[in-house]
Amino acid sequence: MPQGREVQRLIDVLKASRQGLGELGWLYVETGKMSPNSRCIWVKNDDLTDEEADQVHERLRQTGWREGHYDEMVEDLVKWCDQQYPEADDALLVRAFEYYVVNDALLPSPDAVDPTREDIARDILAADRAFYDSLGPEDQNSKCRINGCDRHAVRLSVLCRVHHFEQIRKKTCPFSD
Ligand SMILES: [Zn+2]
Repeated sequence: MPQGREVQRLIDVLKASRQGLGELGWLYVETGKMSPNSRCIWVKNDDLTDEEADQVHERLRQTGWREGHYDEMVEDLVKWCDQQYPEADDALLVRAFEYYVVNDALLPSPDAVDPTREDIARDILAADRAFYDSLGPEDQNSKCRINGCDRHAVRLSVLCRVHHFEQIRKKTCPFSD
């Protein structure tokens, strides 16, 4: 356990956030399945230089604490849960928090299970496709600026659909139509 930091129960932190947390910094929760009794600690960045903060965050990650969550995010999530699920008990509040942290998404229903890897891959592909389509057709009068590329530039770029996609999304384009 990091020295000088008070360990709290996750459910106590979530409930306390209803009164506003102030600037507590980053909340670290112990790894493993979350429960109301999961241990957690606050790390306030203001007390540390950037370098010290990096070291603390790195050490926490290596010693069984899950990535930190900013105080405002905790408040917002609990606020959202109170509106969405006004009858939520401790377990559901923790579940909503865990779901958000793990899936970067709001809990769609009280008994929702985590999306599978296939679900996530499918969503990413759909989002990529929508972005690709949004680039519009290539202009046959304007060649793509990438050396050796035979395609033509899209309207708002000097690059073709594929190369524009790769420049913006920073990954290989899965489409070629
Ligand atoms: Zn190109």
